[in-house]
Amino acid sequence: MSDLYQMLGVDRSASQDEIKRAYRKLAREMHPDVNPDPKVQDRFKEVTAAYEVLSDPDKRSNYDRGGDGFTGLGGGFGGFSDIMDAFFGGGGGSPRGPRPRMRQGQDALIRTTIDLSEACFGTTREIGVETAVICQECGGDGCASGTSPKTCEICKGRGEIQQVTRSFIGQVMTTRPCSNCQGFGTTISQPCRECAGEGRVRARRSVEVKIPAGVETGNRMQLSGQGEVGPGGGPAGDLFVEFIVSDHDFLIREGDDLHVSVNVPMTGAALGTSVTVQTLDGEVELNIKPGTQSGSVIPIRGKGMTRLRGGGRGELYAHIDVEIPTKLSKEESQLLENFANLRGEKSRASQVKKSSDSGLFSKFKDAFRN
Ligand SMILES: [Zn+2]
Ligand SMILES: [Zn+2]
Repeated sequence: MSDLYQMLGVDRSASQDEIKRAYRKLAREMHPDVNPDPKVQDRFKEVTAAYEVLSDPDKRSNYDRGGDGFTGLGGGFGGFSDIMDAFFGGGGGSPRGPRPRMRQGQDALIRTTIDLSEACFGTTREIGVETAVICQECGGDGCASGTSPKTCEICKGRGEIQQVTRSFIGQVMTTRPCSNCQGFGTTISQPCRECAGEGRVRARRSVEVKIPAGVETGNRMQLSGQGEVGPGGGPAGDLFVEFIVSDHDFLIREGDDLHVSVNVPMTGAALGTSVTVQTLDGEVELNIKPGTQSGSVIPIRGKGMTRLRGGGRGELYAHIDVEIPTKLSKEESQLLENFANLRGEKSRASQVKKSSDSGLFSKFKDAFRN
């Protein structure tokens, strides 16, 4: 074999840059597009092989120490992409060499439904999750016990095969993934029976999730490293738990506040009374002042939702619905007639009320339920 430095026309002390420049100059002159002469093409292959060795510091020092620079490195010619790298500066091109068997796992998403009370006070849940987990049988390498991956005989561990193809610019080298090893550079002749060589298996397990107080539908919690284990037993992705807060029977949520509809008998609204309101904290006595109108809103401080950030509680708003009796006994009718007479309201019965503010809550309710 002739001297590789001579082939490129550079000194033994040439820098990497000088080697690159020399090769580019030769490649421009000898490229099949420019010079299709077979003799020139043979030399071009040698020059490229020389460049392949001298442009790699490891191969170059091996060659300098008396090796031929090619041993154990899969043989000379570097392929079309190397030529392109030399022409265009390369570096950021397609990744070369075998792809790793072990790869990062995917994130996983699971949804869980909680009720309003759990959302308000927080809770701990055991959630069943099905993800890929590392194969216990092989520990993730995918090999039957006592065996290990072997270097691929077809690509000699490079993970790719070089091919000469004819194209419009002449004969070019292209590389494609090795089909014998799927580009891994190694083959598993005896795959693990448990995972069929994947290094991971699907399994159901239970994850304890501490749900913080104040979550809303759509909030997600990230449990790092609890997602899918990657191929070849690669590191697991994250597990995202998304919450769905189910509707409450009578409490309606608006951010950190709650709303509730409270029925007050007509007489109680007129005379004043106290009613019992169900809240997330149990029953609360609500004082109704004399003359309370239908549609009026009474805040009950600190009985709303827990604020997810910053703590504290929102308010609970009681929307008053004054109940007008629908069925009256003779005696009740008589009493109300007398009452109306006393207030001189008989003649005003057909008067048009300017704007009814009753039913505000039902409108509010509709806006949230629809
Ligand atoms: Zn296995
Ligand atoms: Zn291969």
